[in-house]
Amino acid sequence: MVLQGWCVKDLSPRPKPFGKICCLRRLISALARSYLIVCICTCHRFSFHLLPLTSVHLRQQRYRPTMLEKPLLYARLFLWACRVLYHMGRQKAIASWNRSTLGLLGSSPPVERDRNIVIVGANFAGYHCAKILTDILPLNSRYKVVVVEPNSHFQFTWVLPRFCVVKGHEHKAYVPYGGQLRNAPEGSVEWIRDRVVDVSTDNVKLQNGQHVSYDYLVIATGSEIDGGLPTRANTTEKREAVRLLQEMQQRIEAAGKIVVVGGGAAGVELTADAQHKYPRKKITLVHSRSAVMHRFGKGLQKAALEALETLGCEVVLNDRVVSEDAAAKKVTLKSGRVIECDLFINCTGQKPASGFLKRLAPGSITETGNISVKPTLQIADDNLPNIYVCGDVADTKTPNPNARSASRQASVVADNILLETQGKLPRYTYKSDWADGQILLTLGLERAMMHCGDGKAELLIETKEKEEELMAARAWTGLGEKPYEDAYMDAENAKSNESAV
Ligand SMILES: Cc1cc2nc3c(=O)[nH]c(=O)nc-3n(C[C@H](O)[C@H](O)[C@H](O)COP(=O)(O)OP(=O)(O)OC[C@H]3O[C@@H](n4cnc5c(N)ncnc54)[C@H](O)[C@@H]3O)c2cc1C
Repeated sequence: MVLQGWCVKDLSPRPKPFGKICCLRRLISALARSYLIVCICTCHRFSFHLLPLTSVHLRQQRYRPTMLEKPLLYARLFLWACRVLYHMGRQKAIASWNRSTLGLLGSSPPVERDRNIVIVGANFAGYHCAKILTDILPLNSRYKVVVVEPNSHFQFTWVLPRFCVVKGHEHKAYVPYGGQLRNAPEGSVEWIRDRVVDVSTDNVKLQNGQHVSYDYLVIATGSEIDGGLPTRANTTEKREAVRLLQEMQQRIEAAGKIVVVGGGAAGVELTADAQHKYPRKKITLVHSRSAVMHRFGKGLQKAALEALETLGCEVVLNDRVVSEDAAAKKVTLKSGRVIECDLFINCTGQKPASGFLKRLAPGSITETGNISVKPTLQIADDNLPNIYVCGDVADTKTPNPNARSASRQASVVADNILLETQGKLPRYTYKSDWADGQILLTLGLERAMMHCGDGKAELLIETKEKEEELMAARAWTGLGEKPYEDAYMDAENAKSNESAV
């Protein structure tokens, strides 16, 4: 099946064009078209990866869905998109209603906002939740949204593996905060640049020692990593993150032999990009499972492996690194194999950032470090009904947590908190949906593969990836910022120019 522009045309081997089969095919095509149109209409920033497709091949790989599974998959995708659209529409309608009452109530809030909804962490989940809440809370609400976030900028994680390899775009991975809340009613939001280190039943403690009281708490602290790039830069300042990315680019450029550990999305993308840019380097990807991208469908696993091998990488499966000796320039695998290595890049080790909750709710933290939640996304502890959790840190049984699932959860949390502030019981629930797990995996600097699958059937859409910066500009626009205007970086550059003179 090929999608040219927005016209969907089925090019897979055709059965005789008559009767029920023909009707079914037309139905599939119509559903696919409707799905894409819904994605375009929603223009939701976490669906925008569908927008740049110019020529897309839908392939049936060795893993073939049956005649029924594929149409069912389309139908479910369509229903999923309708659901997302409905929820966004409902929230937008509430927000418009609130704005239209602005004239009646005057420009300043009539009631003092003396109650706090504290949101800890403002990336995909927390920032989205803050935006929705400031939109849907009535103008005369007594509730104020208080965001606590240590980073100077929103982190657009998707581009980090790419920007570890290609030069000149690193500043685009960090988007200024503010755009999402620009139209928030006066006094409805307060931004605290700090880190929460402890939580009690009615307040959070910041790293600077201060306490902030809360009536409702939203935990959206995502994941953290000890090692740093390519997964996270592990710094709160954009200028430092940019420097670390540039340093990584130089180290990759200088190394002859590179060993990458971890065959998940970050490992596969970084390996493919580096091998594409530097075809003469010897790059080895080591993964402990029997397939790269093992949490996804067999079709994507096969496509990723083939792409890596075609680029010239060596992929070592079912093995793991047991030691790395930087001085001797070698890594040793569990199997006993020793690989020469100038540069070792670890793409594993992300863990949920839930440590600050250990004192208050130790029983709610799972073995993996995620926070157990109820379907309403309240923490799974009946003594703490006013604490909500969303995004990567929440244990929602999402097989491949990502920005899309994080933002859907944020939306559920905002809806429930709105109900609670109106004296009602929370009734919106989040159920992990396989459609949340769509992924667009880059396979070198010019190819990408979009995958959707429900464990039974799998759709693979191959795209030509022409933008070196991937979808960074759209991320900035989606977050309410003009690409790539950043007063913070202008000030930083001015400072370094001054010190150079
Ligand atoms: C390299 C990489 C590539 C990815 N690519 C994609 C992709 O292509 N598509 C996709 O959908 N998903 C992708 N993901 C996954 C996606 O980034 C995550 O699912 C998403 O970031 C989860 O959002 P979140 O808001 O829950 O957590 P995070 O994005 O981790 O944000 C958590 C926020 O909480 C803050 N925080 C943490 N602790 C505290 C504290 N104690 N006090 C205050 N604030 C705190 C952090 O500073 C951060 O801003 C990728 C992830 C990585 C690492």
